[in-house]
Amino acid sequence: MLTTRLPLKVEPHRLAANAEHLEGLVPLDAFARLAEDAGPQQGDCQVWLDFSIDTQGRRVIEGRLEADVQLPCRRCLEPMPTHVSSHFLLGVVSSDALAADLPSTHEPVVVEDEQLNLLTVIEDELILSLPQVIYHDEAQCGVSSDQLSSGDASEASATPADSPFDVLRTLKGKS
Ligand SMILES: [Zn+2]
Repeated sequence: MLTTRLPLKVEPHRLAANAEHLEGLVPLDAFARLAEDAGPQQGDCQVWLDFSIDTQGRRVIEGRLEADVQLPCRRCLEPMPTHVSSHFLLGVVSSDALAADLPSTHEPVVVEDEQLNLLTVIEDELILSLPQVIYHDEAQCGVSSDQLSSGDASEASATPADSPFDVLRTLKGKS
């Protein structure tokens, strides 16, 4: 379990030359675009990054992230705990023209002035790895398919309060 904050501004060329490893937490509420897409978030994103220079002389960052985010169920719109994890491989380049030369296995990050904003990089990766559409299991959703077809909402408020935690347990049991 990580406990320290990830530095958000780094010098990727120096880190790659020294084959450095960085790991740490980024608070989820630092991600403005994530909040726009999915609503306010709590907790942290865990991030592990390995900087290196590969055999082709490319500066690369091999990374992994994990986070527990709240995404709106597309049926009842209630926030739904969702575990997100992603592996990614970044190629550090100094211009868009050089980005085009990277193999398709590498996502380009353009670095000017020796500074890389990791917040932007991690937020991009996190948003890319979100599931497109999520629903509660029918038994746990605030809107059942019966209600959708019959319009009877009288029982809707009786059970959904504790359902997100059941979903979380289900998700954790699978991962
Ligand atoms: Zn739902």
